[in-house]
Amino acid sequence: MTDNALTIALSKGRIFEETLPLLAAAGIVPTESPEESRKLIIGTNHDNIRLVIVRASDVPTYVQYGAADFGIGGKDVLIEHGGDGLYQPLDLQIAKCRMMVAVRKGFDYKSVSHPGSRLRIATKYPNIAAEHFSAKGVHVDIIKLYGSMELAPLVGLSDAIVDLVSTGGTLRANNLEAVEHIVDISSRLVVNKAALKTKHTLLEPIIQAFSGAVNGGK
Ligand code: ATP
Ligand code: MG
Repeated sequence: MTDNALTIALSKGRIFEETLPLLAAAGIVPTESPEESRKLIIGTNHDNIRLVIVRASDVPTYVQYGAADFGIGGKDVLIEHGGDGLYQPLDLQIAKCRMMVAVRKGFDYKSVSHPGSRLRIATKYPNIAAEHFSAKGVHVDIIKLYGSMELAPLVGLSDAIVDLVSTGGTLRANNLEAVEHIVDISSRLVVNKAALKTKHTLLEPIIQAFSGAVNGGK
């Protein structure tokens, strides 16, 4: 797109829902809902601003390569991606949860997670998991999964999982318990570094409006 147009990468679901009020604060209103429409490119009330609907974990990639000028991504996804080519000016305080280690209830995690021990960890977040256990001096074999992590310890695929927890309901329903907190998660505004310069006049008021909405909402 040209220098006077903006493309915003968003994922469906909770991030989209929680982003709508922020967009509204910047005067941006989507013309349809991605939940109802099957379209992946959605217009807004501004002719020069459009949304692209991508998988949550793909948001940093679209923004990094400039296919989107900015987007909103979970800190989990951003840490895992590494942040290359991304400017992260704002914590939006939405989609809050915690990255945790969880095990089967009754599993004696303490006695098997000391420095020098070895654990099998199933996760969608191999980089976050590797870094966490390496800092503890615990050796890990990481098994990459794409979903339903809770199942892994129940069927002997792993000793523990590294996953997002909000209410803990899914863990409880599967007889698991959280045993270690890794990092607090919320979503951030991510801006393409080149676009920040070339489209500064378009981006600046939106970043300001988001910032005002986040701080006003506290
Ligand atoms: P998919 O469900 O398509 O596999 P996903 O799990 O990455 O993709 P979501 O479940 O919509 O997509 O999660 C998007 C983001 O929302 C995550 O990257 C995380 O930052 C945040 N998130 C995930 N689970 C929760 C939760 N239980 N509570 C609050 N925020 C969450
Ligand atoms: Mg999900």
